[in-house]
Amino acid sequence: MSFDADVIVVGGGLAGLSAGITANREGVSTLVLERGEYSGAKNVSGGRIYVHALRNLVNIDDAPLEKPIVRETYEISCGSRKLNFSFYDPETRNSYSVLRAKFDPWLAKKAEEEGVLISYETLVYNAERDVNGITLKTNRGDLRAKLVIEADGVTAGISRYLGIRSLSPDSLMLGVKEVVKPDNVPEEGEAKVLVGYLNGLLGGGFMYVNQDSLSIGATVKVNSLQEEKILARDVVEDLRAKLKVEGEVLEYSAHLIPYYGFNKLPPLSAPNVLVTGDAAGLLINDGFVIRGMDLAIGSGMVAGKASKVILNQGDPSKTEVYEKMLAESFVLRDMRTASRAFQLMNNERLFKTYPELLCNVLARMFTVEGERKTLMNVMVEETKSRGLTLTQMIRDLMKVV
Ligand SMILES: Cc1cc2nc3c(=O)[nH]c(=O)nc-3n(C[C@H](O)[C@H](O)[C@H](O)COP(=O)(O)OP(=O)(O)OC[C@H]3O[C@@H](n4cnc5c(N)ncnc54)[C@H](O)[C@@H]3O)c2cc1C
Repeated sequence: MSFDADVIVVGGGLAGLSAGITANREGVSTLVLERGEYSGAKNVSGGRIYVHALRNLVNIDDAPLEKPIVRETYEISCGSRKLNFSFYDPETRNSYSVLRAKFDPWLAKKAEEEGVLISYETLVYNAERDVNGITLKTNRGDLRAKLVIEADGVTAGISRYLGIRSLSPDSLMLGVKEVVKPDNVPEEGEAKVLVGYLNGLLGGGFMYVNQDSLSIGATVKVNSLQEEKILARDVVEDLRAKLKVEGEVLEYSAHLIPYYGFNKLPPLSAPNVLVTGDAAGLLINDGFVIRGMDLAIGSGMVAGKASKVILNQGDPSKTEVYEKMLAESFVLRDMRTASRAFQLMNNERLFKTYPELLCNVLARMFTVEGERKTLMNVMVEETKSRGLTLTQMIRDLMKVV
């Protein structure tokens, strides 16, 4: 039985390119399939990239990153009232704003310069497994490999074609984003987490400062959008209006985001298949950070390394070592650490009740009308009037910390 490559990587996004680069460096014959005209053509991201994993993959000195994020701002809104705090750190420089349409082609070029074969405009629409390996059905004909690294993003086509898993709206969020060019862009890179801006929808907003533009968007639980019957585009338009950001909209995009959490991850491997990045549900959204890109790069690199080990063992259907290696890497360790935070997105109190409570408490403390109450009394009154108990609040707080 002949093979087109020992390893075929499906998807030329961050996970796929990282897997391709690493497997190729390990001396494994590798082919990357990307449905887009170029890498990045189909990618949507907020985007701020934490570069720790990327630095282990390639030299990033000439990477087309936007701005180092030196200011982290957390903004809570309740109507016209706002609570805002910032952390300024010009030294650490561990994350950058990024536009994927620029960044992914750069990484793909790096991969090709190292000899990675990438076949663009190649769409995989089905997959079949037999005793020897996997046959991928593509618009360019059938392609066979001993091992497939799945890096096709959140909808996980390969896993579904092979019957490894199905998709459920319960485990999905929708990301909507606009890239806007305002008259003035702040000098320094900033990331804003926006809470209480989405009219009670389960989710949060974000804003990143790029070189000449701002990325503004939101991530929202899919069933929350369905229940409230709100259109995705309206969510981001409304958010931009509330932020009072005007300017030319350079780009609008909407894309699903996996939301599984460590305890509910889909299968990460199956005979002859290693699943990476969004396809494997590897994403952290814990209220402080959204991290999918570094987990995609990290899991892609682990899959590239694991492919060599698996092929050397002589039986590419035995893929367990990948999960073991992933468990030892930052990818699953960080997913485990964030596991409790995954309950947050289902907690309506965090998106409506607490922002309002906080704003009311502060408004009352800053208002002097000749009938002063202590902070404790104000807190107790505001808590009681919302039917909340102290135990409930402490429990919610514990999940956040
Ligand atoms: C609005 C939004 C904001 C986000 N913000 C952030 C952020 O600030 N920071 C962060 O770290 N993460 C963020 N994420 C998440 C991050 O974008 C993803 O986690 C990351 O892109 C996953 O990489 P991936 O390579 O697994 O998948 P993708 O980037 O989706 O790449 C999959 C690739 O596979 C290709 N493909 C798909 N199907 C096929 C097929 N059948 N045949 C061939 N090719 C195929 C696609 O064209 C694509 O190139 C955000 C996501 C969204 C939607």
